[in-house]
Amino acid sequence: MPELRKDPILGRWVIIAHERAKRPHDFKAETPAPGPEVVCPFCQGQEDKTPPEIVAYRDFGSRPNGPGWRIRVVPNRFPALKIEGSLNKRGDGIYDVMEGIGAHEVIIETPSHHTSMATLSPDNIREVLWVYRDRLVDLKRDSRLVHGMLFKNVGIAGGASLEHTHSQLIVTPIVPISVWEEMTGSLEFYNYRGRCIYCDMVQQELTAEKRIVYDSTHFTAFCPFASRFPFETWILPKTHSSHFENIPKAGVDDLGHVLHQVLNKLELALDSPAYNYIIHSAPFDHGELPHYHWHIEVIPRLTKVAGFEWGSGFYINPVPPESAAGFLRDVEVVAADPRPGLIDRAVTGRWLTNVPLEKMGWSSEGASN
Ligand SMILES: [Zn+2]
Ligand SMILES: [Zn+2]
Ligand SMILES: [Zn+2]
Repeated sequence: MPELRKDPILGRWVIIAHERAKRPHDFKAETPAPGPEVVCPFCQGQEDKTPPEIVAYRDFGSRPNGPGWRIRVVPNRFPALKIEGSLNKRGDGIYDVMEGIGAHEVIIETPSHHTSMATLSPDNIREVLWVYRDRLVDLKRDSRLVHGMLFKNVGIAGGASLEHTHSQLIVTPIVPISVWEEMTGSLEFYNYRGRCIYCDMVQQELTAEKRIVYDSTHFTAFCPFASRFPFETWILPKTHSSHFENIPKAGVDDLGHVLHQVLNKLELALDSPAYNYIIHSAPFDHGELPHYHWHIEVIPRLTKVAGFEWGSGFYINPVPPESAAGFLRDVEVVAADPRPGLIDRAVTGRWLTNVPLEKMGWSSEGASN
């Protein structure tokens, strides 16, 4: 059974995953590039290679755990947290510990192996967003669980262990410290000014324009003023909302389009980089909060987080967010091909697709070098 342990100084919780126990020699210095996969468990026709599906969006007449699906959600085969059992909160001297109860699910976004999230059609992406929402609505009924985090790892530097495009959902019995810090900071602003800091940020970015990557009816994407990483991009709803799972249909329709634009701009501008995206949303056990505003953080993995960053919490970002946003704005994403999963793309402006960061005078290393 995994265990949750609390750092008594920072209040940060750590998942100790006993069952994934490894010996020192299992941790190699570098992760080798994966060879050609003999059988990918996420491909169509390999449904028996995953645990049974929790939910799937399927073509009419197809059977569960067989082919004919467009999106499949399955439990993670090596879950960081497990759904069965009780929390059993207890002390161990000065330390707090509880059982690692939670959910760890994998969302397989397409049956096709050689497709990235960016090359899915906006309609495919909309279905992925609906699945995200459905899973949160379902899991928030479990009173032991308080927060759900949806995230995506792409590429080896992004932490992906399988090439086939997928995202993950980890639902925890405690609020992750990153969300807690955002909620605390935004509450402080709200108590002082009576407004949501994220709403203010959206207004200022739309007025200033210089950090806007893409703007749409219901959402805006921009490189944040204090970007930690080159080309870090946030997507925020323009209307205040604290919980992602309360997104209306018009919101899903528009977000599918905006996410398609942003991911294509990153793929085209940075030659399909490794990246992560994370959806930060308010905890389940609160109603609508006036001070917190859900958002997506997209983080290309172009620099290495090294000693200084780990030790200090400071990040050194070699690309000013104003320049990053300018480059991304100039990448034109041509409308999707009507055939699902295929898209015609073109680049305009001063940006070429295969220019590594170094050639543009930016180091891809962190402060270690
Ligand atoms: Zn595959
Ligand atoms: Zn707001
Ligand atoms: Zn955030």
